[in-house]
This record gives sequence, structure tokens and C-alpha cells, in this order.
Amino acid sequence: MEGSIAARSRETVMRQLRVSLLLGLLSLAHPLGVGADLQVKLPGEPVVQGDLRDLRVTAAEPLIGLEAHFRGASLPAHAGGGAYTVLLAVDLETPPGPHPVEVTAQGQSGQRYHRRVQITVVDGRFPLQHLTLPKAMVDLDAKTLERVRREEAVLKSIWETWRGEPYWWHAFIAPLDGKTQISSTFGLRRIINGQPRSPHTGVDFEAEAGTPVRASNRGVVAYVGELFFSGNSVIVHHGGGLFTMYYHLQAARVEPGQEVAKGDILGWVGASGRATGPHLHWGARLQGARFNPERLLKLSVP
Ligand SMILES: [Zn+2]
Repeated sequence: MEGSIAARSRETVMRQLRVSLLLGLLSLAHPLGVGADLQVKLPGEPVVQGDLRDLRVTAAEPLIGLEAHFRGASLPAHAGGGAYTVLLAVDLETPPGPHPVEVTAQGQSGQRYHRRVQITVVDGRFPLQHLTLPKAMVDLDAKTLERVRREEAVLKSIWETWRGEPYWWHAFIAPLDGKTQISSTFGLRRIINGQPRSPHTGVDFEAEAGTPVRASNRGVVAYVGELFFSGNSVIVHHGGGLFTMYYHLQAARVEPGQEVAKGDILGWVGASGRATGPHLHWGARLQGARFNPERLLKLSVP
């Protein structure tokens, strides 16, 4: 009996030795354990599902390079005054709870820094809407379903094939002039005839047909076309994997590949695609994360 306890404790000691050896090897392989020298700040409110936020990264010395990762995305970063501003988007379906952000930076002296911070994502508490619609309006026939699948593949390739640095790093504007009324909020969860549908990944603004729709910021037109659900659609890439979407247009006045400046007219409000009346659906995405486009108007980037 005693012998076996002794054997067990010997085994425990050996395991501890192995663990500390392993930790020693790990720290040799990662000489970046000096994270305390890198400050990562997230000003403002708690982070919610569908949020877009600025992270401020500083060190005791000026930083000359930075990379940041969050849930598979390489976050766009902007240098200024020896510090970095990093843009973090949280997909509206990101599970609430802690998620790590990995930051690697290089100082002017050549020193490399690494810091892992936990971002706690809070439930977006998106409203729930129950709708009862005639079955024929909800169920898609085989041909339409095939069209929808094809369009989904086209969009997926747009979201995935972005390249290059951000073109913006200055304030975004709302796509419609003047005061606008929201008819359907971001994140709304729809249950149609008892079946949960995809959440509302944009904001719907009430507007008269023919109202000009403007580019929220500088970018390149990534897509112009007619989609089954979204109707006449324009997608603008602002660089760094940040897209804004403008759906249900009466018509578009831009072409794919065209460069647009902030405020340029992309098209006019309509009711094309699956729409009950004229409105603009405005959406936004950062490297796959679908976030509330209204957050673009609240960025504190320089
Ligand atoms: Zn919408």
C-alpha cells in the first residue's frame, strides 16, 4: 500500500518535472513573455455582439509595427504618434464570454512585444420578432433555392478575396442625408411560421424611393448586381477586409472596380428584392464579422 503511494508520488514528481521542463522549452521558443510592457486599452462600454471598437496599443517606447488577431481575423491597425489604433469587430453570433485578442508589436529599439488580452463579449439582447406569413411566400421553389445558393457563393468569394491595407482611417458617414428613421434594427431575430431565420445583419432606414444613397467612406466597389433577397445591391470594400453593403436599391450608378470617395452617390433607394416597401438596408462586415454599421459613425479613430 505505502509502496504504491510512494510510487504514485514519485510519478507525480516526475510529471511535475516534465511539466516544468516543457514550460522551460516553451518559454525558450517564445521569448515574447514581456507582455506587461505593452498596454492594450479598450475605452468605453462593455463589448457586445455586433460591436465595432477601437483598441489602443502603446508601449514605453514608440511602436513601429503591430499585428493583432481576434477569432481568425487579422485586425486592421493604424499607426500614429508611436502608438496604434486597432479596429475590432465582433460578429453578432459570437458566443458571449471571454475571447482572446493576440497582439504582437515591435518597438523602435527592435524589442518585440506580445500581449494576450481577454475581451468579454456581452449578449446583444437582440429583439425577437414572430411573423406568420403565407407558406408560398416563405418556402422557396427548387429553382429559386438554386439561385440563392449561387448568390451566396458569389458573396462568400467577395468576403474572402479582399486584399490590402485600409483606405480610410477617418470618420464614416451615414448613407442617407438628413435625419433617418430606422424601421428594422440590427440583430433582430426573426421567427417566421415558427422557424428561426437568419438574424438581421444590417440596419433598415425608412426612405422615399429615389433618395440618393452615399458611400460611407472611401473604397472600391466590390459588387454590383441583383440578388434574390437583397435586390439591386452595391458592396464597397474600404480596404483591410472592411465592407459596407447597400441593398434594395431602385438602381445602382457605380460599376465593379470603380473607386468611390466618401459621400459619392452609389445609387437610389428602392424596394427591389425581398422588400415590403422602399427602404435602405445598410450592412457592414470586417473580415467575416457582421457588425452593426451604426458603430462606424461612433469610431474615435483619427
Ligand atoms: Zn434589412
